[in-house]
Amino acid sequence: MDYKDLANLIFPDVKDISYYEEKYPERNLGEGAIVTRFAPSPTGFVHIGGLYQALVARTVAEKTGGVFFLRVEDTDQKREVEDGVTGIVNSLKDFDMAPDEGMISDTEEIGKYGPYKQSLRKEIYQSYAKYMIGQGKAYPCFCTPEEGEEIRQKQEAAKIRPGYYGVWAKCRNITVEEAAEKIKNGESYIIRFKSPGREDRKIKHKDIIKGNVDFPENDLDIVIIKADGLPTYHFAHAVDDHLMRTTHVIRSDEWLSSVPLHLQLFHELGFKAPKYAHISPIMKNDNGGKRKLSKRKDPEAAVEYYKKEGIPADAVKEYLLNIANSTFENWRRANPDKKIEEFDFQLNKMSVSGALFDMVKLLDIGKIVISKMTAEEVYEKSLEWAKEYDNELAELLNDKEYGLKVFGIERGNKKPRKDIAKWSDVISNIDYMYDDKFYGKIKEYPYQQAISDKEDISKILSLYIEKYYDSNDDKQTWFDKIKELAVEMGYAGEVKEFKANPGMYKAHVGDVSTVLRVALTARTNTPDMYEIMQVLGKDRIIKRLEVAKENLK
Ligand code: GLU
Repeated sequence: MDYKDLANLIFPDVKDISYYEEKYPERNLGEGAIVTRFAPSPTGFVHIGGLYQALVARTVAEKTGGVFFLRVEDTDQKREVEDGVTGIVNSLKDFDMAPDEGMISDTEEIGKYGPYKQSLRKEIYQSYAKYMIGQGKAYPCFCTPEEGEEIRQKQEAAKIRPGYYGVWAKCRNITVEEAAEKIKNGESYIIRFKSPGREDRKIKHKDIIKGNVDFPENDLDIVIIKADGLPTYHFAHAVDDHLMRTTHVIRSDEWLSSVPLHLQLFHELGFKAPKYAHISPIMKNDNGGKRKLSKRKDPEAAVEYYKKEGIPADAVKEYLLNIANSTFENWRRANPDKKIEEFDFQLNKMSVSGALFDMVKLLDIGKIVISKMTAEEVYEKSLEWAKEYDNELAELLNDKEYGLKVFGIERGNKKPRKDIAKWSDVISNIDYMYDDKFYGKIKEYPYQQAISDKEDISKILSLYIEKYYDSNDDKQTWFDKIKELAVEMGYAGEVKEFKANPGMYKAHVGDVSTVLRVALTARTNTPDMYEIMQVLGKDRIIKRLEVAKENLK
């Protein structure tokens, strides 16, 4: 009896690996094309760090005319949740990052290199495991969990490195006859890799992001096929990324220390190893220290958070590119109107250590992204968000014609308004343009302003209504009239004048504007008041000013 017989005994029915090698040929792509993937477990949850990796992977694939695919790694069936794939697929779609190939829903996939869900590839892994056993590079291990624990304890007591290796690898040197006997007797087993490595030797690895790293060789006889017949992550990674013809494995740096094992697996399987790029995690400041963004502690770790808050997908992607390549910021400054896809992203310029997550910066980017949208886009996107998360806003936006006017205020000009960072900001930025909301709020009228004397305020309002307001005035005339009003009231008609002679005036034209602004909007700060008044129209303006006067009494 030889290794081949043992392999046949263990996996009698699986196909020869030549079948798969032919079925999944090298891809016919241009030179330099990068084939890469996003390979999450179907927990339904996408971490912002996962989205970051996927964005990087997708960007480099797109830039090189390659392929970005989505593979679902569900070999650890304990971690699976219902509908977990759908959640991932939808999150990628939310960010306009649908893959070129792979899973597109819980059950559907596109592409010729599938199945893209690992649990559907059981036979493929078993073919390769059979091949390895046939070569004497893998073997069945009959150790029980108790025996495993015993080994671990002995190693601990002797203060030596834990693990199934060398002399500790009890089943490594079992003869094929003995193994066959045990199998025939119905003993349960798993399949282990017979590592050819030695811990006292080093391997060199050149990681695209981390640069040159040295590691001891792997000498662990890791499990490749578990008792349930499914592969471990390591084995599935080698088989899948080979058969799916991945050129670049772009993944979290928690896997960096597994590189020696992975290179060894590729080598022993006779595969060409892919290039690796290990991405550092996104960090957060915490009590003076730094730590990884945590799924448990930080709501912003979940990509779902950004959707709920209404932070535009483009802003999130732009922010992530910002932390991915430090040259992005300068590029953006020089090219304010270009699409992020035009940025010359470089995988090898990613930072070796983890970038700090900065919500303030992200929201600033959100403001800029939204400021560049047309009124129509802002309207459509806020409505879409509101329909899912905010009924009150959705109702306000019912009247599209008026909504477009409101969003048109200070937009589409050279210096567009930048007061909206996320869709959840919209309501508080526009509610005063709606009478129900405005009159509902007016009780919290802010009187804290430079001109606080009720009589003066009343007089300003009366004069404005009776003498100065004319709905036909152009912007310059409108403003000149507010100046005249200020002067008539004994205030400075120019802010300069006021500052030059602080003792001479109680207030200036800007303060008069504020009185009008507060009466019209119940706020001290708004976008351009002339434009606001154009949208409100004469009748509503007069009514608001009259009501303000009434409320003073
Ligand atoms: N399923 C692995 C994870 O979620 C994927 C790692 C990889 O990209 O290879 O960590």
